[in-house]
Amino acid sequence: MRPETLFVHAGAEPDAQTGALAPPLHLATTFAHGPAGERRAGYEYIREGNPTQDRFETALAALEGGDAALAFASGMAAITALLDALPPGAHLLYPQDCYAGLRVLATEFLPQRGVVATAVDVTDPEAVRAALTPQTHCLWLETPSNPRLRVCDIAALAALAHAHGALVACDNTFATPLLQQPLALGADVVMHSTTKYFGGHSDVLGGALVFARRDELHAAIAHRRHITGSVMSPFNAWLTLRGLRSLPARMAWHCANARRVAEFLAAQPKIERVNWPGLAADPGHAVATRQMRDFGAMLSIELRDGRDAALDFASRLKVFTNATSLGGCESLVEHRASVEGSQPVSPQNLLRLSIGLEHADDLIADLAQALA
Ligand SMILES: *Cc1c(COP(=O)(O)O)cnc(C)c1O
Repeated sequence: MRPETLFVHAGAEPDAQTGALAPPLHLATTFAHGPAGERRAGYEYIREGNPTQDRFETALAALEGGDAALAFASGMAAITALLDALPPGAHLLYPQDCYAGLRVLATEFLPQRGVVATAVDVTDPEAVRAALTPQTHCLWLETPSNPRLRVCDIAALAALAHAHGALVACDNTFATPLLQQPLALGADVVMHSTTKYFGGHSDVLGGALVFARRDELHAAIAHRRHITGSVMSPFNAWLTLRGLRSLPARMAWHCANARRVAEFLAAQPKIERVNWPGLAADPGHAVATRQMRDFGAMLSIELRDGRDAALDFASRLKVFTNATSLGGCESLVEHRASVEGSQPVSPQNLLRLSIGLEHADDLIADLAQALA
């Protein structure tokens, strides 16, 4: 079955009792069981598992080509659940360019429990080879990455990491399983912030891990989620399931808009650099062409005249809204350095753009008037 069809039908079987085509939203926190805890349909208490979350997990595992999935309250809860499964003394390799929350976990939280994390340029397999140690338990990948849209070669890096006995996890938030399937390229675990393209409407928080194998790691993280309580709420699972149905249609429009916008911006003298792997000149273009079906709708630009020019440009935009997050219907712009706290890592002249579902001509007209 082609992915478009799978997105419409995964986890969408009619309700067994009523025939309802829209999935039932089970808000129950507790489920009747027998006097000795005998379960009727496998459920006991919402923190351990619930039918609406199960439906979403089944769908997501099918979409990523995995054996099992676990949904979480947020993308950060999903990342944390995986990293908390690393034992003290373990070594984590993570990308130099990555989601800011992962960097905080790696530099602030993981060292507190004896996990050593090292940032590495994952676009350079030789650098990764040199950084792998006998203690390296996990190689974390994010491609394309936030906010510079760097692309790394998942298959090559997975082979390297596996030769060292390390697990490979890949944040697939920007691409979604429609555009890229890290498990098929050799990753062991895929992570999503479903808050972004899956939800698609800037109104629902969530995250997920998808496992290539339903193995001990999956069981350990399911147990951890049950006890620490970072489950997805039924309503969020329901909204995210609904988002799946239209994701291929939305993503096709997002990607086509992003191409128009990226090509327009690349021709502007005030813009020094456009980071978008769909451009032939982008350093990630060749690898992205191999491992992605399309290039996504996140891009970033670096203005020639520095921070002030970037802020001035962002302040003049009218169709784009200055806001964080991404993957919704509306186009967003964000000066990342301004929101990264006291030690920003993003270049001061960089703006990140989430290209939405407006008409590309209106987006380009807005960018043109802000540049003029
Ligand atoms: C948003 C995001 C996250 C964190 O997800 P939340 O749902 O906000 O917790 C992680 N990785 C990437 C690439 C993201 O864009």
